[in-house]
Amino acid sequence: MCGIVGYIGRKEAKPILLNGLSRLEYRGYDSAGIATIESDKIVTIKSLGRVSDLEKATGMDAIKGTLGIGHTRWATHGKPSKENSHPHMDNSNSFAVVHNGIIENYANLKDFLINNGYTFISQTDTEVIPNLIHFHYSQSNETGNKKFIKAVTDTCNMLKGSYALEILANDFPDNMIVVRKDSPLVIGKGQDEKYISSDIPAILSFTKDFYLLNDNEFAFMSRDNIEFFDKGLRPIQKQAQNITWNAGAAEKEGFEDFMLKEIHEQSKSIRETIGSRIQENSLSSLPDLEMTKEYLESVNKIFIIACGTAMHAGYVGKTLIESLCNIPVEVEAASEFRYRNPIINDKTLCLFISQSGETADTIAALKLARFKGARTIAVSNVIGSSISREADYTLYTHAGPEIAVASTKAYTAQIVLLAIIAIHCAEILGINQEKVQELRNDILLLPSQIEEVLKNTNDIKAFAQRVYKEEDMFFIGRGVDYAVALEGSLKLKEISYIHSEAYPSGELKHGPIALIENDVTVISVLTDRLLTEKAISNIQEVVTRGAKTFIVTNQELNHSFDTVINIPKTNVLISPILSVIPLQLLAYYISKEKGLDVDKPRNLAKSVTVE
Ligand code: GLU
Repeated sequence: MCGIVGYIGRKEAKPILLNGLSRLEYRGYDSAGIATIESDKIVTIKSLGRVSDLEKATGMDAIKGTLGIGHTRWATHGKPSKENSHPHMDNSNSFAVVHNGIIENYANLKDFLINNGYTFISQTDTEVIPNLIHFHYSQSNETGNKKFIKAVTDTCNMLKGSYALEILANDFPDNMIVVRKDSPLVIGKGQDEKYISSDIPAILSFTKDFYLLNDNEFAFMSRDNIEFFDKGLRPIQKQAQNITWNAGAAEKEGFEDFMLKEIHEQSKSIRETIGSRIQENSLSSLPDLEMTKEYLESVNKIFIIACGTAMHAGYVGKTLIESLCNIPVEVEAASEFRYRNPIINDKTLCLFISQSGETADTIAALKLARFKGARTIAVSNVIGSSISREADYTLYTHAGPEIAVASTKAYTAQIVLLAIIAIHCAEILGINQEKVQELRNDILLLPSQIEEVLKNTNDIKAFAQRVYKEEDMFFIGRGVDYAVALEGSLKLKEISYIHSEAYPSGELKHGPIALIENDVTVISVLTDRLLTEKAISNIQEVVTRGAKTFIVTNQELNHSFDTVINIPKTNVLISPILSVIPLQLLAYYISKEKGLDVDKPRNLAKSVTVE
């Protein structure tokens, strides 16, 4: 996820672009860059790091144009570096493009362009776009504006994935084309000028009238005109809307807090993490992981090492890998692993999970595993992060920047990536192919099922209003439902400061049930058909002792319970991706009822870079 901004008008573009970019930095700050058109020629300036670094870049003083585009990057493909910074240009320096999103089929498109004589200077997915535009433009029989427009629509018709684009062309020094699909883009309207941005607040100080672009809609702009059209070049009528929000609310895209926004982004982050790694009826694709059948057959133990929420994703990963790959998996807190002389050798595969990729304990554990001869894989959400530099291989979740301290969308993205890793290894080993096929189909349904879960929040909110003053709660579940119980309990502690404990359902009677008395809250997760009857008996045991229950399930329950949150049915191995959402929301609403700062809970930090 990155921020893009644009201006076309009569004022100097540079200060407007820099101002917009600095307001969009919450979307990423790996690098920044701008391009303007001066004397019919595109000029670009880029810099690694923040917008403040770009402001100081050499040559910045000379930038003078009144039409330009800007980008602040959150790297998804290619490490943060000057050459990977946007704007990207085609080989002939005729087109400049800034891009927010991921081009899933960029590898195929790159091959196509290389076969047609194009070369590449960056490792980004984005660089195929200006070159494809050039390819279509140079082959075109069209004339005038249509030549530029058609080259862009033809390019977009070849792209798979998500994109918001701003495009400049040397041959059209008074025009700009923008388009969006699954990434945000708005156009602010002024007097003989337009402001373009990834979100409204970045340009709210310049205008209050906005055209909101829908997916697959294009705009061709000049200073005093704007034409909207679709992929087939059919014109679209659009009215500007007057926006009355304040800037802070709009940065969170209308959500009250970043955490709530990030909970709602899970459908997108799962879709982007799946990308083209899993497709219907074909083998998985993880080109960054060089695993052979011979190597995997030699592995006799897998460790998953992480901290906090990432470790809870690891527990789900254990079940996934053991079920599909028949290799024993142990999950361990990095802070324990690093100090206990674990038994590791060249037959051990170690997987390290960290959203930020900077978690100090996880990095230390990774160094230890390498020292002892294990092969190492990092799972991180941040390109170029420390664990990705230390590990033999890195696989990225594409969840976009997570700003709220309590992790939500990174957790579910980690689980889906672990599922893909399990599928990939099982395919290489040539085992459990029926299970793999089923899981692959179920993974592809997840984005729409997440949207389904997020439609029904009233009962969760009502339950939060009933229990927010309590001091203790219990979470229970069996199998992967227990792993989710651990995560639900952690979310509650983190942002509501309520003490809670998670237990395997069957363990209750071995001690904790002594604490269950009238009106105690017990939250249970129940998604495993084979364990339903057993789990229901455990819930009955606490109900008999007066507990209030909140049950998240995709099973038909023939008993009446207090609050039951129904979620769609899916493969039990990935059910945590759906069942955790009501628990994230419950913690969120309880915290809000208590009037706490959801995004910045006390004593916690987003990236734990100390032991
Ligand atoms: N995929 C592009 C890149 O890695 C754009 C990333 C973004 O949206 O931040 O450069």
